[in-house]
Amino acid sequence: MILMQGKGVSKGVVKGPIYFYQRAETAAVQTAASDPEEEKRRMEEAKERSMDQLNALADKAREEAGDEAAMLFETHAMFVEDEDFCDCMTAALEEGCTAERAVETAGEQFAAMLAAMDDAYMQARAADIKDVARRIRNNLMGVTEGGIDSEEPVILAADDLAPSETLQLDKRKILGFVTQGGSSNSHTAILARTMGIPAICGLGDQLKQELNGRTAYIDGETGKAAIEPDDITLNAFQAKLEKQQEMKTLMDTMKGQEDVTLDGQHMMVYCNIGSPEDVAAVLSNDGQGIGLFRSEFLYLAASDYPTEEEQFQAYKEVASAMGGKRVVIRTLDIGADKQVDYFEMQKEENPALGVRAIRICLNRPEVFRIQLRALYRASAYGKVAIMFPMITSVWEVKECKRACRKVMAELDKEGVPYNKDTELGIMVETPASVLVAEELAREVDFFSVGTNDLTQYTLACDRQANDLGKFFDPRHPAVLRALKMAADAAHKAGIWIGICGELGADLTLLETFLAIGIDELSVSPSAVLPLRAEIRKSIAKTCTLEKLEC
Ligand code: PEP
Ligand code: MG
Repeated sequence: MILMQGKGVSKGVVKGPIYFYQRAETAAVQTAASDPEEEKRRMEEAKERSMDQLNALADKAREEAGDEAAMLFETHAMFVEDEDFCDCMTAALEEGCTAERAVETAGEQFAAMLAAMDDAYMQARAADIKDVARRIRNNLMGVTEGGIDSEEPVILAADDLAPSETLQLDKRKILGFVTQGGSSNSHTAILARTMGIPAICGLGDQLKQELNGRTAYIDGETGKAAIEPDDITLNAFQAKLEKQQEMKTLMDTMKGQEDVTLDGQHMMVYCNIGSPEDVAAVLSNDGQGIGLFRSEFLYLAASDYPTEEEQFQAYKEVASAMGGKRVVIRTLDIGADKQVDYFEMQKEENPALGVRAIRICLNRPEVFRIQLRALYRASAYGKVAIMFPMITSVWEVKECKRACRKVMAELDKEGVPYNKDTELGIMVETPASVLVAEELAREVDFFSVGTNDLTQYTLACDRQANDLGKFFDPRHPAVLRALKMAADAAHKAGIWIGICGELGADLTLLETFLAIGIDELSVSPSAVLPLRAEIRKSIAKTCTLEKLEC
């Protein structure tokens, strides 16, 4: 038996083959060809395969996000057949390069040429040609985009996964995640919880490449993973699998029930999502709304700025699917661990304290304007609320509101329908926002507390680091007191307050949240029913604030 111990970051037990994530960039390319004719044949085959993939992607995009989204892939398909691009590859092949080297050379030359043009549209196409060249190269090397070239579902293993990598994976093929690095507050762990996929991080050197293909059991609660378990370990895993099934049956009885305590205190139980695809899990778990749609994942999954139309389609899809239930969409929160190449951000010493989230939007009004237009347009199709992340000052909120008014005026002029009463809220996730919460509350319709960042900034503890252990404590009285201060300020101004950070799903704190008077908890879809079961067993008037004591 090989037994590994890491940190469980997304609950659930699962059994399946370990599969190491493939990154195209890590493979070395051979430059000189031994058989030029064979290289030409390989190139033709890889181009054909790329065309098939791009056509399929265009169809899928058209179905899921409309014609404009499909156009991106159609443009890529045109590049594969572009005469000049193909001549450039052929010339490199004739000079004796391998097909991989030829496509790399052609891609680099074309991208440089486009980037040097005066026209902004053509400059932006440099990223497309690089993408196309990478696709052809991956096909030559037999590397699957998205990292999983397996017919059966797998337990995905990796050193670590960037949020954009996690997002592009075909989720139907993933039973679980195991990673060498990472922390429970990293966005990849959050995504795993949102998708309801068991995950263990921080396995370090125990997770060796030679385990590829071996069958493993993983437990995303205890952080244990076993290969060829002995009888005792196997029985323990199997007992937990059975309990998991029983629990699921029990939780199904919670569907359709109200989120209310025995003495009548209501709580709104909403869900956190990262993409329109996650709405299915919200509905199947009977979430009463969406308390946090992390819109930045649309940007992370793309190779260029998503257009207004692409964003509108995504927001509209979520708003309509929720059928009039509240959908809180957070404006773009990139920076820190969520880096997007095409934003071309300056490298920062301390990115968590740098230009991230609302700071980027206020510095780049055009990016902000496009997103706000898409959000307001989507507001005509459901109960959309807009939320601004990483707020520290009142002036920032005033600027955001000004940007909203400008967008509404534009839409009025164009005769485009939208909801004039769209709620505007902020994330309370910095100590500064807690300290000026009374003033902030007068400006907005709701607060949502981001306990992941609030913990990071209050305790001066990097949420990404996996070795801070007990120092990163979202249950610290300082964090809970900050929560109470924000809640008091919200209620004084007559607005509602929720929690959308991971702490919201901590059932051992439910009493504290009820005592503070939190109005909404937004959690991963799989946490909705267990939370409802606890709420329905609670008596709010007996709940105390004792956890706020040191
Ligand atoms: C938070 O900080 O708690 C939060 C919900 O936002 P994110 O995790 O996306 O930073
Ligand atoms: Mg945050």
